[in-house]
Amino acid sequence: MDCIFCKITSGVIPTNFVAESQHAVAFKDISPRQPVHILVVPKEHYTDVSDLTEKNPEVLADLMQLATKVAKDKTIGSFRLTFNTGAAAGQTVFHAHAHITSTTPKEH
Ligand code: AMP
Ligand code: ZN
Repeated sequence: MDCIFCKITSGVIPTNFVAESQHAVAFKDISPRQPVHILVVPKEHYTDVSDLTEKNPEVLADLMQLATKVAKDKTIGSFRLTFNTGAAAGQTVFHAHAHITSTTPKEH
């Protein structure tokens, strides 16, 4: 297995998950570009969000529910949800993932 996100979701690389659902996990981006920068990743391998949408809409819905929950929990309600798709669009890890980014963390 040479996919870094497969290693993270399967526990081969130990990672603190911010949250987890049946089909997805959320964890902090290793090199955050905003005060809030969290990745939401399906446990199964899909190349990108197009591949995920075509092959498994149920997993996509589960991932979106987790992303929305985490975004509402970690921000004041203003956030971006981004799926970079394809190298020319800036995708560097070819295992589908959403970026939650925000300038306005919620103080707990
Ligand atoms: P993308 O460029 O959309 O494919 O996003 C990949 C993201 O994964 C980048 O923002 C990286 O900083 C992040 N990343 C890469 N390796 C790790 C890791 N081991 N743990 C957490 N985030 C990572
Ligand atoms: Zn993978």
